[in-house]
Amino acid sequence: MDYLLKGIYKKEVMYRERCAREERKRQVMENDKLQCGECGFLSNTVGKAEEHAKDYCHTNFILSDDFFIDQHCCSCPTHCNSPMALELHKKKTGHTEYEDTEAKRDRLVQEYLAKIEAAMKQRDEQLRIALEKEVRSQTRLLNKKLNMRSCLDSIKQSLKFDEQQQRALKTLVTIVKNVAEHPAEEKFLKIRISTIEKRLGYVQDGFKFLELCKFEKVEGGMFLVLPSYEVEEELLKAANDELNRALSVMEE
Ligand SMILES: [Zn+2]
Ligand SMILES: [Zn+2]
Repeated sequence: MDYLLKGIYKKEVMYRERCAREERKRQVMENDKLQCGECGFLSNTVGKAEEHAKDYCHTNFILSDDFFIDQHCCSCPTHCNSPMALELHKKKTGHTEYEDTEAKRDRLVQEYLAKIEAAMKQRDEQLRIALEKEVRSQTRLLNKKLNMRSCLDSIKQSLKFDEQQQRALKTLVTIVKNVAEHPAEEKFLKIRISTIEKRLGYVQDGFKFLELCKFEKVEGGMFLVLPSYEVEEELLKAANDELNRALSVMEE
């Protein structure tokens, strides 16, 4: 009995310590977020802020406690990742309608279907074929993005500790980034599974995620290979976005 009570007490103490640790981390991260003063882009690492500054020539970053959102503008290709970004975009452009990734995919499908129908009415076969192709590739990409998102969610659910989750996600970031930056380099296209298994926390969804990026298991499951003709810039960008999103939500 005494032994049992001690066990429960110990669990309780560990649980409280973990909560306190998470609370402290949350506070620090909140203070650590950087926000672009010009467009509202929110970043939880200095690296991402620097990348943004380089890409857009926006250099005026401020410390911020804003939070992450996932909203695409319906009138232009802008993606807003914070409420401030959304407000600034609205003010600057007057664009009023926004939607998340899933809604965007559903809307695109509906729009394309309507266009296909119109083209069929006009009996314009070539236009119909071109549109169908476009629908397929856009929907495929957005569906893959959502599948990647659910892989990353289940990686986070399967791994108990934040450090394990971070390590798994960052391992995927490195793999994706290496291929995106050096699409012709053999050493980044062929990965020995045993070297990443541990870093991915032995969670199958890590491999599923890489398979969504077109890596295949070969040589009896010893290696993951991405054939260089299968390297797809858009797909890798989607993977990178989803990884950043998963890390952002976690570090929030
Ligand atoms: Zn900016
Ligand atoms: Zn817009």
